[in-house]
Amino acid sequence: MAQSTKGQIGVTTENIFPVIKQFLYSDHEIFLRELVANAVDATQKVKALAASGDCKEELGDLQVRLELDEKAQTLKVIDNGIGMTAEEVDKYINQIAFSSAGEFLEKYKDQIGNIIGHFGLGFYSAFMVSKKVTIETKSWKEGSQAVRWSCDGSPSFEMEDIDKADRGTVITLYLDDDSKEYSEKARIEGLLNKYCKFMPVPIVFGKQQEWKDGKYVDTDQDKVINAVEPLWTKAPSELKDEDYLSFYRTLFPMNEEPLFWIHLNVDYPFNLTGILYFPKLKDRVAIERNKISLYCNQMFVTDHVDNIVPDFMTLLHGVIDSPDIPLNVSRSYLQSDAAVKKISTYITKKVADRLENIFKEERAQLEQKWDNLKLFIEYGMLSDEKFCERALKFALLKNVDGKYFSFDEYKAAVEGLQADKDKKLVYLYATKADDQYAYIQAARDKGYDVLLMDCELDAHYVNLLEQKLENVRFARVDSDAVENLIPKEDKVKPEMKEDERYDLENLFKAVLPGGNDYYVVGDNLGADAAPILITQNEFMRRYREMSALGGGMNFYGSMPESYNITVNMENPLVEKIWAAKLTDVAPQADLPAEAPADAPEEEKTKAREAREAVRKAHRSDVEAFAQGNEILHQIVDLALLGNGMLKGKALSDFIARSQKVVSDAYLK
Ligand code: ADP
Repeated sequence: MAQSTKGQIGVTTENIFPVIKQFLYSDHEIFLRELVANAVDATQKVKALAASGDCKEELGDLQVRLELDEKAQTLKVIDNGIGMTAEEVDKYINQIAFSSAGEFLEKYKDQIGNIIGHFGLGFYSAFMVSKKVTIETKSWKEGSQAVRWSCDGSPSFEMEDIDKADRGTVITLYLDDDSKEYSEKARIEGLLNKYCKFMPVPIVFGKQQEWKDGKYVDTDQDKVINAVEPLWTKAPSELKDEDYLSFYRTLFPMNEEPLFWIHLNVDYPFNLTGILYFPKLKDRVAIERNKISLYCNQMFVTDHVDNIVPDFMTLLHGVIDSPDIPLNVSRSYLQSDAAVKKISTYITKKVADRLENIFKEERAQLEQKWDNLKLFIEYGMLSDEKFCERALKFALLKNVDGKYFSFDEYKAAVEGLQADKDKKLVYLYATKADDQYAYIQAARDKGYDVLLMDCELDAHYVNLLEQKLENVRFARVDSDAVENLIPKEDKVKPEMKEDERYDLENLFKAVLPGGNDYYVVGDNLGADAAPILITQNEFMRRYREMSALGGGMNFYGSMPESYNITVNMENPLVEKIWAAKLTDVAPQADLPAEAPADAPEEEKTKAREAREAVRKAHRSDVEAFAQGNEILHQIVDLALLGNGMLKGKALSDFIARSQKVVSDAYLK
């Protein structure tokens, strides 16, 4: 190389700088990561050369320094790494780097928006923020001549020999007017913290400060901004719980302590290390995603790993470091990449292994933390088939007494009593222990166990479990009379004729609050059982809840609430009301005959209307009887009250009526 050269940079795309500036606009800040990464690489390389004996000179303290001159608007990135000879500058900077960037842009022109943040343009990203860049560099090779390369943003450069005493490279950015922010100390500090906090070589920016005479002043100690050996690079066997917890605090100073963690460490068939923490998850609202940072050899790449790990894993917090995740490709490509798939499968498997291990070795811990963990597990089981298969071994069920069971344990516990007449196991559950207290109590009185399913995803989860657990059906405790929840043998239902059923329905509908759908049925529940039970059909309710959570069943969400009203025909009060109806309400008059099939339309309509009029007259009689029957009102209102359905005027009417009924009974 001549002592002073001018030349054209090997560009394949004419004038690449406008392209760099324009397309990577939103991500200008990554220039710093790129330059520091190059400097770190250079120091790592010289270390390797020394280790192999190729480089014999004294290395000194290997480090990368950043120097900011706010007045001159320059930023320097300085390393004492391998440096470059003039030939190398020509080869790596003038030819290769530039042409590969050009090719890259050419190839990915259309999706360039997608790849921002995944691909740095290396050294040339410096031009996103600079009007001029110089490289002053001296190679480690004995007797090397130092050179200065400079370029002002046009595709031409200058190169000349210079005097430079130390091995290594100084990159100087002359910040352009649009990029003044990068001459602010705080901005650079922020970026170093974001991108370089765990780089493997000390990165020095400014001086440590001390409190003196009422203010902070610089000491003469360099300030190193990074931890060169972050926790995930260490051997798990050397680490204690406190190390993991304190590392979590450095990553997420504002967060509550994590529940568990898992240290990933694999070198075949791909390289991956990292630490993933299970955070406390209480409800969907509080969920924070994108708390896993992806690193590549300790260099921060992104905190969007949603294409690399399964969706539910993005609920975890922590760090993944892998040089094997391709970074210079688009997001859509990432998802189909075979290496990424392998990594994703591996991480899922490791997380499942860890949880299974906790289940086996730290059962008490698992139970203690389960309530905060289950949202994650349930979400994982619902969204990932493989994880679900694994989780069936370690997931827990909790009953209303706060006792925890594995699926196997639960089956064994309820197998005897809770099998129905078809030998299907019925798992009873409550969603709100207080609201459903009476039903829970009724089930317990029969010796049944009741699970607590109060997690937001449980409507979907219960459905999933019915598919996964063999021969098991779930029923919410208030979905039917306790006798019918787990049907034992075919019970004798009360015999009622069509018009009796119709009367029963009208009798009760007349005193039930409007706005809902009711299915009224008579049943024999025994003389001691309550006169009326209000229940909600298990499946209707479940679909409604699932549609509220989102799950493609909006149809159910838009229907009115519907309730089953089971009238206990053996209850003495009901018996008495029913008998009174028989005596007080005249039987329905005979229905006029239907018109023959071949009669004219007009005649048919007339006959239909005549029949309808008779029915309606009778229905009005039944309704009038119902309205006038205080005790009917009382028993219905009591049932509503027990379900938290008696409100407003209905409630105050009930109280007034109760007072009257009590006085009548006592004072008469
Ligand atoms: P990449 O780092 O992806 O190879 P760059 O454009 O960032 O692309 O750099 C091109 C090459 O220039 C590097 O591979 C390296 O050989 C050389 N280089 C860049 N910065 C330095 C540096 N600070 N010290 C020594 N060599 C460097």
